[in-house]
Amino acid sequence: MSTFFAEVFERDNRRCVYCGRDLMVDFETFMIVEEDHLVPQSKDGPHELANIVTACRVCNLLKGNFTPGNEYSEEKRVEYIAKIRSHIMARRAERMADYACWTHPSDKVTPDDS
Ligand SMILES: [Zn+2]
Repeated sequence: MSTFFAEVFERDNRRCVYCGRDLMVDFETFMIVEEDHLVPQSKDGPHELANIVTACRVCNLLKGNFTPGNEYSEEKRVEYIAKIRSHIMARRAERMADYACWTHPSDKVTPDDS
């Protein structure tokens, strides 16, 4: 972990800013720590502290290419985190439904059940 990201990690209380997961709970969890640019660098998001947050790998994966807005400004930081969190939680719900089909296949609703 770079000194730069260590500063981000500390600022974010060693938690994923999107799901709140404690990333220091065990080594396996620590291994999924990632840095995330609120506005992606591919969309000209700056590589600076205010545009970077601590994320877990799952949230970063679910975020995908989602961009909360076109331009980054420090005033938009809280708004952008909220927008990204909302996007991630919606995608998480979709994937949880997939997961439930595998863990509880007998609960699966098919068109013939109605
Ligand atoms: Zn997370």
